Amino acid sequence: MLKDVNYRSDRTFALDMDQNDHLKSFRDLFFIPKNNNGSDSIYFCGNSLGLQPKNCKTEIDQVLNAWSKRGVESWFESDASWINSHSTLKESMKKLVGCMNSEIAIANSLSVNLHLLLLSFYRPNQTRYKIIIEANAFPSDQYIVKSQAHFHQYDVNDTIITISPKKGKINIEYDDIATCLQNHGHQTSIILLGGVNYVNGQVLNLKKITQLGHQYGCMVGFDLAHAVGNIPLNLHDDEVDFAAWCNYKYLNAGPGSVGAFYIHHKHHSSNLPRLEGWWGNSLDSRFLMKDKFDPSYGAEAWVMSTPSQLNYAALRASLEIFDMTTIEDLRQKSILLTGYLEYLIENLSNTDIELITPKDRNQRGCQLSLKIKNGKEVFEGLINSGVICDWREPDIIRISPAPLYNTFEEVYNLVLILSDLVSK
Ligand SMILES: *Cc1c(COP(=O)(O)O)cnc(C)c1O
Repeated sequence: MLKDVNYRSDRTFALDMDQNDHLKSFRDLFFIPKNNNGSDSIYFCGNSLGLQPKNCKTEIDQVLNAWSKRGVESWFESDASWINSHSTLKESMKKLVGCMNSEIAIANSLSVNLHLLLLSFYRPNQTRYKIIIEANAFPSDQYIVKSQAHFHQYDVNDTIITISPKKGKINIEYDDIATCLQNHGHQTSIILLGGVNYVNGQVLNLKKITQLGHQYGCMVGFDLAHAVGNIPLNLHDDEVDFAAWCNYKYLNAGPGSVGAFYIHHKHHSSNLPRLEGWWGNSLDSRFLMKDKFDPSYGAEAWVMSTPSQLNYAALRASLEIFDMTTIEDLRQKSILLTGYLEYLIENLSNTDIELITPKDRNQRGCQLSLKIKNGKEVFEGLINSGVICDWREPDIIRISPAPLYNTFEEVYNLVLILSDLVSK
């Protein structure tokens, strides 16, 4: 259970919180980017690119060493062989997304995986062909669903249905989705939403939305780019049909790292059509080089190509760190850390800052999004003061304290800098 904390706005409070933080040593497992003068920057951009684990180089070196010393034999030669690396990674990954081993695969990258999943799950016909997404979905997701509609020769304008918040509201509420389904549900094939919205950080209730979608006979999938490693997930129990995510945001597996996807158990033997390649063939017979495809059980059947072991090594470095704790533990700290950021910002006087992330901690993860008048100037001021966060046009600054490596003192220092910039 989360102990509620009475926040205070003095520095001692932040120092005490850090002192008592049982996860504080995790910060030492990461390289913290430096300012020009050699001091640590304040890095609040784990929602965009997570920091490099110090063991990343070691893991990659191991692959390079094996390759240099034993060449192709490294694929099969020991328990740590490359052929086993996929199943080892899945053991760690499944705890973060809450599913069975057979329900995940680690391959390709996010946008590619969403397309491949839609090729299986989006089977439009004259009565059911619509795809529902959020109006402010990540651009790639919008391009993906529109091009899928086009690919299947459907009129994009009639096919892609977007959900917007009510007038004057920032977040999507459950009844906005319910209303959309009342209007379009019976014609909808797929509901594809971001588990955590990338603009305002809103967390959706995957379970309730999936249940609702199923009532209308839709397939329900989620883009978990901003959710994985940020909030606990229970994809299997929530009966989510499919999901995909990248591993370079809260999962720290490096720029453009290998992605992952999930397909619910109930679809494994339902003969969904898919594109196939030899790496989706069952390992038992993969190297017998037969003409006929003999699928791996579960999501692995969707894997096509030989995975990059260098890429896997970087992901392993990241997941080794998550294995030392639990996502629930990280979430407890995250709630306190982000709550503290909110508290300090709300205590600033005379500012034009509007927080557009839900106040309810169950409806947000690490990230707070700030809408600020003259936001660009404030953002540049932050960057010049050694705060790394990010900017979304036209007026939004996203700040994401990550419980693995950020501290309460950093939050305190950030708001000190921010208060100077906004009171000018
Ligand atoms: C980061 C992000 C992506 C990025 O997709 P890639 O294929 O990895 O480039 C896609 N969707 C969402 C919601 C994201 O936040």
